[in-house]
Amino acid sequence: MRLLVTGGAGYIGSVVAAQLLEAGHEVTVLDDLSTGHRDAVPPGARFVEGSIADPPLDGVEAVLHFAAKSLVGESVEKPGLYWSHNLGGTLALLDAMRREGVNKIVFSSTAATYGEPERTPITEDAPTRPTNPYGASKLAVDTALTAYAGLHGLGAVSLRYFNVAGAYGPYRERHAIETHLIPNVLKVATGERDEVSVFGTDYPTPDGTCVRDYIHVADLARAHLLALEACAPGEHKVYNLGNGAGFSVKEVIEVCREVTGHPIPVKVGPRRPGDPAILVASSERIQRELGWKPERAALRDMVEDAFAALSGK
Ligand code: UDP
Repeated sequence: MRLLVTGGAGYIGSVVAAQLLEAGHEVTVLDDLSTGHRDAVPPGARFVEGSIADPPLDGVEAVLHFAAKSLVGESVEKPGLYWSHNLGGTLALLDAMRREGVNKIVFSSTAATYGEPERTPITEDAPTRPTNPYGASKLAVDTALTAYAGLHGLGAVSLRYFNVAGAYGPYRERHAIETHLIPNVLKVATGERDEVSVFGTDYPTPDGTCVRDYIHVADLARAHLLALEACAPGEHKVYNLGNGAGFSVKEVIEVCREVTGHPIPVKVGPRRPGDPAILVASSERIQRELGWKPERAALRDMVEDAFAALSGK
C-alpha cells in the first residue's frame, strides 16, 4: 500500500516506518522535525518536512498518525500548545484526508486517556478521565475519530500505548528532554549522568515504587501493521497495548544493572506529581481480535536492545 506516516522521524514512528517498508509498503514520512530526527527516517522512505495541517496525500491509501506533542509536564504548563497541535492539527489532517478521499487511519493514542485507574489491568471499557492536557488532547482525537467513522465512513484504529521501551536496530528513543525511566537509567550506564532519581518509594506497591507495563517497541510496531489491515469503513476500534505484566521502578533499575554491568547509583526523591501507583494494560482485546502477541515481552530484552542501540552496537 501507499502509506503516509506522520511523525516518522520520531521514536515509534521510525520503527513503524521501518517495519512497513520491510513488509513491502511504499512509505512517505511527514515530520516537522520539531522533536524528530532526519536521520531516524528509514532509508527507503520518502521524506517530506512539513506540517500535518498540509499533508502530502497524493496517491496515499492510509495514514499512520504519530506526529504529536507528548510531554505530560509541558502539557500542564502549555495546554494551548497541546490542544492546537494534537487536536487542531489532527482535525486539519482528517479534513485533508476527506478532501482527498483517504479513508483509513491508525492513530497513536495513549494510556494517558484513562487517567488514574479504578482497576488493573486496564481494559478498553475503563472510564476515560485523563489527568493532564496531553491525555485529554489524545482522548479528544479518539472521540473525533469515532464521529468521523460514524458520519463520514472513516475506518480508524486507535492504539493506546502503555510504556514503550527498547529499540529496533538503530531506531531508538532520543528526546532532547528525556523524562522516561529506562533512557534515563541507561544514561547513567553510559556516563552521561551520575545517578538516576527514583520518584517516590512510598507507593502502595510491593517495593514502594511505581509499577508500569513496558512493551517492546518492535512488538508495538507490529500491532500497527495488524491495525492497518483491521481498518474497516465506518468503524473506529480501540485497543490497549502493553504486555500485561508490571515492573516496578526498582526492578527496572536492577535489570539495567544486570544488562550494563554498571552499579547505577540512585537518588530517592519525592513522588512526581500525577504519577499513578500502578498502570498495567489488558491487551486481551487486540490479542483476541487481531491475533497480536508480544514476542519480546521480557524487560531484559527491551533493556538489552535499548542499550545496544545507545552504544551504537
Ligand atoms: N521515574 C523515575 N525516575 C526517572 C523517570 C521516571 O523514578 O528519572 C518513574 C516515574 O515516576 C514512573 C516510572 O518511572 O513511576 C515510569 O515513568 P516514565 O516517565 O518512564 O513513564 P510514564 O509511566 O510516566 O509514562
